[in-house]
Amino acid sequence: MRKPKLRELKEALSSLFSKPYTIKYPYEPSIPPKAFRGKPRYVEEECIGCGACAQVCPANAIEVTELVSGSSGKRKLTVHHDHCIFCGQCQRYCTTEKGIILTNEYDTATYDRTDATTEVEKDLLICEHCGVVIGTVEQIRWVAQKLGPKAYANLGMALILHRDLDLLGKTAPLSPNAPIDRTDHIRFLCPKCRRELILYEQWGP
Ligand code: SF4
Ligand code: SF4
Repeated sequence: MRKPKLRELKEALSSLFSKPYTIKYPYEPSIPPKAFRGKPRYVEEECIGCGACAQVCPANAIEVTELVSGSSGKRKLTVHHDHCIFCGQCQRYCTTEKGIILTNEYDTATYDRTDATTEVEKDLLICEHCGVVIGTVEQIRWVAQKLGPKAYANLGMALILHRDLDLLGKTAPLSPNAPIDRTDHIRFLCPKCRRELILYEQWGP
């Protein structure tokens, strides 16, 4: 019989008295390394609901749904973990740089795929004249705050800042198909309706 070499004997003895390299997962948790890319999660207070993450997602794992009812609405962004490839593009290209993070959670096992999601919901700003979606309130406020005093060059942004300061009075809802006129300047209007209003003022009906 071939006798073990001294080095092999030493290794066998040290392995006998040292801790194993493997862990008893799932009976004890596996701690992922620092740079691990796990389930994406929205950070409610940092996300502005702009939807840029959905546009850069290569796996189409982020669903954007908008529910509009009259003059109000919500935009919901849903990350489907069963479609996600954990590439981190959403985090990298997030507009605010902090709206979505890849956590170190790796366990995606579930009996129901609809549970494998993470969501965020934001209020929409709707054009008071034609009813189209202008953007989310937080998105417009975020841009206005970034621009500082220059934001007052844009009436929509100025209105958001005034509303935040409680300086904006209540306006009666516009009746459908009502013509637009100069009193509508203090309403939230989409760029198309705002242009119509300015042209109306310059050239008349
Ligand atoms: S702020 Fe970031 S996380 Fe939120 S919708 Fe925009 S890109 Fe996505
Ligand atoms: S990690 Fe990649 S695949 Fe997953 S939601 Fe973000 S961009 Fe999409």
